[in-house]
Parts: sequence; C-alpha cells; structure tokens
Amino acid sequence: MKTIIAANWKMHKTRSEAAQTAASVATFLGKNPMQCSVLIFAPFTALGDVAEQTAPNLAFGAQNMYPADHGAYTGEISPDMILDCGCQWVLTGHSERRRIFREDDAFIGKKTAFALRNGLSVMLCIGETLEERRAGQLRAVLSRQLLGGFADPLLNDVQPDRLAVAYEPVWAIGTGVSAKPEDAMEAHGIIREELISRFGSKGQDLPILYGGSVKPENSEELLKLDNVNGLLVGGASLEAESFIRIIRIGSEYAS
Ligand code: PEP
Repeated sequence: MKTIIAANWKMHKTRSEAAQTAASVATFLGKNPMQCSVLIFAPFTALGDVAEQTAPNLAFGAQNMYPADHGAYTGEISPDMILDCGCQWVLTGHSERRRIFREDDAFIGKKTAFALRNGLSVMLCIGETLEERRAGQLRAVLSRQLLGGFADPLLNDVQPDRLAVAYEPVWAIGTGVSAKPEDAMEAHGIIREELISRFGSKGQDLPILYGGSVKPENSEELLKLDNVNGLLVGGASLEAESFIRIIRIGSEYAS
C-alpha cells in the first residue's frame, strides 16, 4: 500500500495563501517524482483554488461535510459541493469536531457512509484523550470510534483505496508532543486488529496514518513503525517547506 502524507490546514489560510502553498507542493511534486501519495485538506473557501494545482500523486479534500444532498442546513456543505470544487476526499471524526462541535460516533458514521455513497473518499480520524488513556481505555475507545465511524453495511463493499484511518491521540494534537513510538505502535496495532475484525482481509489494506505534532524531525521514527502507513500533519503542513520535507521522508517509506 502507498504511504499517504496528508495535510490538515484547519481554519488557516485565505484563498490566495492556500493556492500559493498548494502551488509550491504541486511544483515540487512535478519536478521530483515521489513514491508516496500527498493529500491536502484545505478550508472550504479555498477548495476550488487548491484543486487547480495538479501534480502526480496530489489530491485535495475538505475537512468536513454534512450528510445530505442539499436543503435547509445553514452553514453546511454537501459531498457534491466538494466534488464540484475538484476535491476527492473528506475528513470525518476529527477530534476538534468531536470535542468542539459535539459530533458523536453515530453522526460520524452517518457522514462517513454518506460521503462514500456520494463519491468522496474518506479519512476517519480516531484517538483517545489523556484521561481515557490513563484510565486504560485505549482499546475500548479506538474500537468504539472505529466501529461507529464504519458502522454502515455499505462499507463492506467499499474499495480499500477510498478509505483511510488517522490515529490522532487528542493529547498529541497541536501540543508539540507527539506519541512515543511504542505508544503509536500499540495504538496502530490495535486499529489494525479492529480493521481486520471489521473488514476481514481487506482490513489489512486500509492505510492507518499517525497524526499529532508530526514534524520533519519525528516523521522518520513514526513512519518506521509497523502499521504506520502515513502521516496526518497539522501545524507543520502550513509552510510548504516543512511539509515538503515530510513528503520527502514519506517517499522513502513507500511500501
Ligand atoms: C491535526 O489536528 O490533524 C494535527 C495533526 O495537528 P498537529 O500536527 O498540529 O498536531
């Protein structure tokens, strides 16, 4: 499976700033063939702008969507609107959406299935809080979030390349402290087991990305780990230069 290096720009960048960073990444990929896939989750307002940047192995996505075709859902956007901007992916279940916007597993599962049904590929984010980890609930939390996010029977037949999981321990997001290799490896191992029990042998082919304070300096030690098939990068993806450094490392670990 191809390593995925993904960027989550959250609520950063105007349209022109996003287009500029995406253009730098696209130019780099155009000149330097990389073995990994690169994905950028941009803010809604910039989706059309970033999607104009094309390069081998580069794709774009939105950070959220609402599970309806259209209608009275003020402030929301549909999968069709994302596809119409030229983007193919969406994130679901990011811990900021779970915590700040009170999204629960049932709703995240509904969004995941709706996005897939309507032609998007989905990266489901899961991860435990520090309290849950300290209370010994790592497996229970990951399993609940994974099975909730992937609950719809529609997913039984989905192509593995249209789905990915990002393990993002909440305590490592934006804190500058990434998970220790042994902690990341334990969590990724649990997620792999749960994916296999949910999808059978196809569970072996779904990429599991690590996210949470990834930087160029710690990318290699994370990508070396069993069942780490890519990285989801927040802060360190905002500057093209540091994101490109991570892409270069990701290309070395393409399997
Ligand atoms: C994220 O929130 O998806 C993330 C990975 O953030 P950071 O890299 O800034 O911790």
